[in-house]
Order: sequence, then C-alpha cells, then structure tokens
Amino acid sequence: MTKPLDWIETELQALRDTGLYNQIRILESPQGAWLVVDGEKVLNFCANNYLGLANHPRLVEAAKKAADKYGVGPGAVRTIAGTMDLHLELEKRLAAFKKVENAITFQSGFSANLATIPALVGKEDVIFSDRLNHASIIDGCRLAKAKIIPYDHCSPASLKRSLDEFRADFRRALVVTDGVFSMDGDIAPLDEIYEVTRDYDVILMVDDAHGEGVLGEGGRGIVDHFKLHGKVDVEVGTLSKAFGVVGGVVAGHPLVVEWLYQRGRPFLFSSAMTIPDVAACIEAVKILESSTELVDRLWENAAYFKGEMKTLGFDTGKSATPITPVMLGEAPLAQKFSRKLFEEGVFAMSIGFPTVPQGEARIRVMISAAHSKEDLDQGLAAFEKVGRDLEVIG
Ligand SMILES: *Cc1c(COP(=O)(O)O)cnc(C)c1O
Repeated sequence: MTKPLDWIETELQALRDTGLYNQIRILESPQGAWLVVDGEKVLNFCANNYLGLANHPRLVEAAKKAADKYGVGPGAVRTIAGTMDLHLELEKRLAAFKKVENAITFQSGFSANLATIPALVGKEDVIFSDRLNHASIIDGCRLAKAKIIPYDHCSPASLKRSLDEFRADFRRALVVTDGVFSMDGDIAPLDEIYEVTRDYDVILMVDDAHGEGVLGEGGRGIVDHFKLHGKVDVEVGTLSKAFGVVGGVVAGHPLVVEWLYQRGRPFLFSSAMTIPDVAACIEAVKILESSTELVDRLWENAAYFKGEMKTLGFDTGKSATPITPVMLGEAPLAQKFSRKLFEEGVFAMSIGFPTVPQGEARIRVMISAAHSKEDLDQGLAAFEKVGRDLEVIG
C-alpha cells in the first residue's frame, strides 16, 4: 500500500534526474567577497550583497549597540506593542533617502508584496502584471483575488493594448512590475510604463528589490534612475539585498503607507523586523547618504567583469545591471559548470526551471562592490578554464 507522502519521494527523484534538485551549500563564514564552504575558501559570486554591507563593521556595530539598549525582539506585532522608536526612525530615514513623503517597513520584501497588493485591489479589480514578475508579486496578486492580466515582458505597447481592452471592465486597476528582473538583470522601462499608464485610472507599483541600493543616484532606486519622483504610487524595496540585512519597505504616497498600517495583513498579523536588523539598516542608509563610493565601485566592477566575459566569448544575455547571467542552455550543463567552478574555487550557482524557462539554464554571477579587481580576475580565469573544458567557449 502506498503511504500518503510517498509521492514526495517520487517528485524529488524526478528533480534529481532532471538536474533541477536544489543542493544547498552551507556557509561557515560571513558574507563577503570570499566564503568558507565545506572548509574551502571560495570566491563568492552568488550573493545579493551588492555593496558588501552584509558584514560591514559599521552595520555590525550598530546592531550590537541597539541590542544592548533594546534587546533583540520586537515583542509583538507592530499595532499591538511591537513598534519601537527605532522602527520609525528607519522609516523616516528611508523616506528621506528615497525622496518620498513616507515609508513603512515589513519583515521582508516578500511580505511587503503580500501586504501591499491585496490592500490595494480586490475581487472587483484588475491587475496588469509583467509576465516575468517575481514570485512574491505573483503570490500577492493571487491573494488579492483580482483579475490578473499578464502583459509581455517589459513591453509598454502590450500593457497599453491590455489597458485599452480591459481597464473599463473593472473598478480599480493596478499596474505592477519588477524594477530589475533578477534572473536576466534587465531594467523595466518604467518611464515608458508611466507614460502609458497616465492616460488611465490606474495605480502604478514597482518592486525594486534588485534596484534598491543599486540604481539611481547613490542607490536611490529605479524611480530616481528614471527621475520619476512623485509619479510612481508605490515603490517596494528590500533591505536584504544591497542593504545587506533583512526586511522590506514600501515607499511612496502617504495615503498608501497609512492604508498599509491599517490593512497590510503581514503588518497586522506578523511581528516586526528585529532590533539588530533595524539598527543595521539605519546605518546602511547613513552610509549610502554619506557617499556614492560603494555604488560607484559596484558598477565599475560589473562593467569590468561583463566586458571581460564577453571578450572570452560568453553570452551574458541582456543584463543592464550588475546581475550577470552566463547563458548555458540545459540545466545539467549549468549544474556541471557550477560544480567545476566550485572545484576551481568559485561559488556561482546554476539556475534552472522553474526559476527560468526550460532551455535557458544559466550560471548567475552576482558582482559586488566587495570584490577587488584581483578577485574578479580570479573568477574570470576560472570561467575561462571551465568554459574551455566544457566546450562552451572556443
Ligand atoms: C528578492 C526579491 C524579493 C524578496 O525580497 P526579500 O526581502 O528577500 O523577501 C521580492 N521581489 C523581488 C523582485 C526580488 O527580487
């Protein structure tokens, strides 16, 4: 007789057979340009730690000091007794940094999307969503129970056709897009999307998880990058990528923030960011406000690495950001490539279906301001060797 959970073993075996099983590596060191994994020192090409803040001494110190003063836990959901003056200070600083009137933080970028989308639209409404939007946007849309109409990836023309056809059939409408698409590193044409949406009665929302701390002046994000201040209603960001900590943020119109205080379910029913996280994030904002040095170095590193990879003959896709996909095709090749890189002392994960479409498996290299030129050169040498061994490059 089969048991009720037997199907899981069958499914797991299918993942192993098709090269899609996630083997999780365990880190024995802080996040930095180098990591210790399985006792080996390896070059870190995986993390979203764009600016090297995850182990920055100023953030570590701020977290320690705050823990000494406030302890570690927020104690309750924020509406009951879990909002400390530190949480409000972080929100004020984030709003000022992003040049908006107000901001609200969440436990993660994922929960920021789950909070925001269902608070803005419901059963009688419609959501126009980029086909390649992040899983947390997709889940937020599903929770909202609104009609979801996907438009072609980064296509304002496709969005406009959908708005013409469907907008009038619904009460409220939301247009939502990733700012930077995490698997390809391309940037949403938010300026054109804004131009299209202004002729319709729609709320415009961008999830700038990979643009926060990366795009715009000193890392102020995609709205700053396109100079769209005051024109995008809702800007979601994460504090877990360039900011190096963990947490989510919604910045924008004060009415949106006020409404999320009242109706954002992960805000109302789940406890707040912890004290060390909040204090470290405040320090991250201070660092970003004081200098563009880290952001500048990130972009210099990215330009150097991508240029050299192209010269070697690799296909780095359509990336316009420090995210560098190395396109390999089938998942087993990408997995093998990743394993061989690891043997050469480079930690870069392969990514396959369902995270990217079938046949578009890749290694995704995440460049950071924490990398030195020597680090990047070592990484390039490993890619060259493995690329020739596996006949990906000539
Ligand atoms: C990473 C990511 C998230 C999730 O952010 P967390 O803070 O890690 O939960 C949400 N949206 C997009 C577009 C992302 O890339």
